[in-house]
Amino acid sequence: MRHFDTKSIIRPLLCAVATGFWAYGLMGCATSNGVAHEYREALRDSDDLESNGHTTLKGPRTSLVIMVDGLGTSTLRAGLRAGQLPEITRFFSAPHGNLRGSEFVLARGSFPTLTYPNLVSLVTGRAVDGHGILGNRLLGDEGEIIDFENVLNWKKLEHKISPMTAFSVLRNRGQASVSYSYPLFNGGTANQRPSFEVAAGYASKDYDVVDIYTLESLGMFLESTPAHRWPRFIFVHLINVDGVEHEKGANTPQVLEALRILDRRLAPIFHWVRKAENEGHHTDTVLTSDHGFVNVSYQIPIEKLVARLPSAKELKLVVDNRVASMYLPSGWSLRTRREAAREFSQISKIGWTALRQRLPADGEGIGRISIFYANGSEARIDFKNAQCDYGPWAARYTYVNKVTTRGQSGFHCPEIYDELSDTDSYTFVVSSLLEYFRAEKSPDLVLVPDDDADFSGAYRGNHGGLTSEEVLVPMLARHARLGRKVFPVHRLLHKLEIFSEEKQ
Ligand SMILES: [Zn+2]
Repeated sequence: MRHFDTKSIIRPLLCAVATGFWAYGLMGCATSNGVAHEYREALRDSDDLESNGHTTLKGPRTSLVIMVDGLGTSTLRAGLRAGQLPEITRFFSAPHGNLRGSEFVLARGSFPTLTYPNLVSLVTGRAVDGHGILGNRLLGDEGEIIDFENVLNWKKLEHKISPMTAFSVLRNRGQASVSYSYPLFNGGTANQRPSFEVAAGYASKDYDVVDIYTLESLGMFLESTPAHRWPRFIFVHLINVDGVEHEKGANTPQVLEALRILDRRLAPIFHWVRKAENEGHHTDTVLTSDHGFVNVSYQIPIEKLVARLPSAKELKLVVDNRVASMYLPSGWSLRTRREAAREFSQISKIGWTALRQRLPADGEGIGRISIFYANGSEARIDFKNAQCDYGPWAARYTYVNKVTTRGQSGFHCPEIYDELSDTDSYTFVVSSLLEYFRAEKSPDLVLVPDDDADFSGAYRGNHGGLTSEEVLVPMLARHARLGRKVFPVHRLLHKLEIFSEEKQ
């Protein structure tokens, strides 16, 4: 029976208000069962086509990927050790999952360790050199800064990456996907759209509200859609842990509490997945992250420092949390660029700088990235063409101090540097910087602060740099075979066979 309640009158009213102050045009007035409804409609159309001999839209298998924004390895490990994450523990432990006690598989996030480069790497299956989202802030074609932390720029993001995403690839193959990610909310067959509650949550930085809404809607979708009609790919982006970690700092009681609450909220999701598995629907579930955090007590006033330089007008600076990047004048000689990179490394609280020194012309010859450390030493990453899993290049790392050249390795494929990574071994620096500097339009120079400093001064916890806490992220999997070696997050959907045509 249809009836009027106050909610149905208030909602359109609130929606109009919210649309005014927030992201005009971005917001439809969504409800918790909006995704399930949109999906049913799309499937009904597809069934009509199917009965006329067209391909099927639904998936023979479902990959559910949950990205917990900002979930670092130390926070997750602490939560597991304290026994505060019973749902995650039960769902991802053996025999179905890869969690062993409080030990889990690690993956390498993209550099810079910021949300947008990593969100995009995950859903496009490409490293930053393959998609060009080199930060939360990008230098646009007119020299303007495009800031993706501003919701008004999400349409620009979508415009840049839409054809590359798993959502588009699956659509072109006649398979369905669902996106629960606000920055990427137009990709899937059905998508979670910002509601009034979500818009208000964003506006007041109450990200818990945003996650509650996401998980409520996902729960309704899984409950009301028969498992054999689930899409091939469901992507879920949860943001409250990241918000708390920025505000309160990494590995604090408040972050552990946010994770404990999230664990409880995931229970119904895990329930519906188990039920689907029991009904014989192949579902692989992954819980991962885009970056971890470090705690920050110093701000480097890089904009002021650069503004005082005689060459300030010729330099283009992009400041992005724990990384700053710079475009140098094209007329500068190699010597001048190296001198600049070395001088920037000597600024107080700068940890190191890296300079793109040479790119091999049309794939011939050897490219070089130089790293200048605050203590005056230098390292080099040389790279050349080779047949490797991630792309046609291999790299050699050489550490140079004032008197000797040592620690020179041979040329190895980047996957080797990832596999050798752990919390004490920073070999991921090689693959991370290589992907970054090989990107078209990548800056000439990056500046990375000491582990306890940033450029923003806005938060207790921050990220963007290349410490193991920021780069290495958890990779919990159930039913998906991901191995135990460190691999880059941009390979995840390949491992789940989303970018390849499957044998049915
Ligand atoms: Zn993030």
